[in-house]
Amino acid sequence: MIKFLQKAKRKVSLEDYVTIRTKGIAEYFFEAETVEEIISALKAAHDMDLPFFILGGGSNTIFPSYYNGVVILMKMSEFEIKKESSGVYLLSQAGAFLPRVARKVTEEGGVGMEWAAGVPGTIGGAIRGNAGAFDTFINSFLQKVETLNVNTFEKNYLSGKECFFNYRESIFKKRKDLLILSAEMKFPYGEEAKEKMEEILRYRQENHPSAPSAGSFFKNPQVKPDFFEKFPEMKKFKEKGFIPAAFLIEKSGMKGKSVGGAQVSTKHANFIINKGGATYEDIVKLTEEVKEKVKENFGISLKEEVEFM
Ligand SMILES: Cc1cc2nc3c(=O)[nH]c(=O)nc-3n(C[C@H](O)[C@H](O)[C@H](O)COP(=O)(O)OP(=O)(O)OC[C@H]3O[C@@H](n4cnc5c(N)ncnc54)[C@H](O)[C@@H]3O)c2cc1C
Repeated sequence: MIKFLQKAKRKVSLEDYVTIRTKGIAEYFFEAETVEEIISALKAAHDMDLPFFILGGGSNTIFPSYYNGVVILMKMSEFEIKKESSGVYLLSQAGAFLPRVARKVTEEGGVGMEWAAGVPGTIGGAIRGNAGAFDTFINSFLQKVETLNVNTFEKNYLSGKECFFNYRESIFKKRKDLLILSAEMKFPYGEEAKEKMEEILRYRQENHPSAPSAGSFFKNPQVKPDFFEKFPEMKKFKEKGFIPAAFLIEKSGMKGKSVGGAQVSTKHANFIINKGGATYEDIVKLTEEVKEKVKENFGISLKEEVEFM
């Protein structure tokens, strides 16, 4: 507890730690650089009877204006890369910054991390949400994940299969007692990854808003075949098996809609941006309005991809 109190900061504004840049105060804020430090913060939270929250890049999280708990910033951000005959091997701590890792893997000739260029999250946050884009998911190259049990402080390894990955889903969304400490991944060698990465960066710059956001806000919903009978104009998405949330939001007339400082981006309707001074409450209200309209128009209940605390 003493070590925790010496290092923890009090009443810290999280504006600079979440990419949507909303103001929010955390009662305790602790930058964990080692597993021992994570454990000391977990123990302190337990002793003070306060909740805790593991924060990576804050690129998928919407914080309330006040959090009476311990925010543990995952600062374990080392990674190493080895070129093996069968591919590029990556061992990365959970706090490593995705674009840095992606660039290094690509420079070494590995294929499979190009999608992560321009995604301001961490390896841990990406594994938890099985992040990905352009038909690639992080789980495709995962060999194993090192975990820490927040109650027993036991470390363990899970294989990719044991993580039960799915579209934006993994065991870590259900098992709140498991933290991700590190991951091992293997990428095949291939041509053109560098060009693909540059293309992806250009695509993001042209098609995604530059204003602060938390990335794609809603999951792209999967629909049953009879949906296309009711909405023939959606048939172009039939092969994909899902409908882009952005399309549904735009067709519901919500593109550009604002509540306070929060706005459905006019550039890409599946981004909610902070156009200045957006609060947690603004975002919650706008989210509800978007969901209501999409439900009303298409009978679809959108599910958030972002994490509301
Ligand atoms: C501009 C922009 C573009 C984006 N593009 C994409 C994209 O193309 N594809 C995509 O999938 N996502 C995208 N995102 C969303 C987001 O960047 C990713 O989902 C990212 O992987 C989240 O990582 P993070 O470290 O920022 O998570 P955070 O927001 O810090 O945390 C998200 C959740 O993960 C938990 N968590 C974080 N670290 C750990 C850990 N070590 N162990 C256990 N739980 C943990 C947190 O407690 C929280 O519940 C984008 C976001 C932005 C802002």
